[in-house]
Amino acid sequence: MTIKENVRNIHNTLPKNVMLVAVSKTKPVQDIQEAYDAGQRIFGENKVQEMCDKYQTLPKDIQWHMIGHLQRNKVKYMAHFVALIHGVDSLKLLQEINKQAQKHNRIIKCLLQIKIAKEDSKFGLSANEAVKILHSAEFKELKNIVVQGVMGMATFTENMNQVREEFRTLKLIFEELKKQFLTANQFTLISMGMSSDYLIAIEEGSTMIRVGSSIFGSRNYTT
Ligand SMILES: *Cc1c(COP(=O)(O)O)cnc(C)c1O
Repeated sequence: MTIKENVRNIHNTLPKNVMLVAVSKTKPVQDIQEAYDAGQRIFGENKVQEMCDKYQTLPKDIQWHMIGHLQRNKVKYMAHFVALIHGVDSLKLLQEINKQAQKHNRIIKCLLQIKIAKEDSKFGLSANEAVKILHSAEFKELKNIVVQGVMGMATFTENMNQVREEFRTLKLIFEELKKQFLTANQFTLISMGMSSDYLIAIEEGSTMIRVGSSIFGSRNYTT
């Protein structure tokens, strides 16, 4: 199947309240253009430099999402155009995003990454750490960011019951944060689900899936 067909097939099966982030990391701009021509406008990258390069050459109505682990010193390179940062896992990072957003006179949308997987390799905050950030005085001073929800990655396992359980946990954490959170009407996004598990994620309440290989084919990592 072609990239275009893959994009259309996923769009046709998605519930209306679920957004598709086409994860284009490592893929050439021709592939992204093909998905774009099928109507896809949201793309996800996990490296700042790669995302900036692609932003330069591709249509300007693309919404670029940073889905990878983000170093503070890289925020400045994408602050003028990034549409959503999924992987925010510290107050310090939020403060840097706010600072860079201020320079460009814009408000940058962010998601808090919550650690739901049992693996040590995965980044993210505990529910308590997220609550602490959202209620801190330092956070309340940040006028150029808005936290729109949460993001999580399930354990890399064949055990779909475990994956479902982890997604369910993220949904519960989301609901809890939303309840405590002052601007609940802005807190609407649950970014969970990838190629192997997005159907389960949607059943468990995902509003944003991040799908790469099911659209673009498998990735070859050379680095
Ligand atoms: C690569 C990546 C994805 C997409 O993975 P696929 O299995 O190719 O769909 C989703 N989320 C994050 C954070 C990623 O790094």
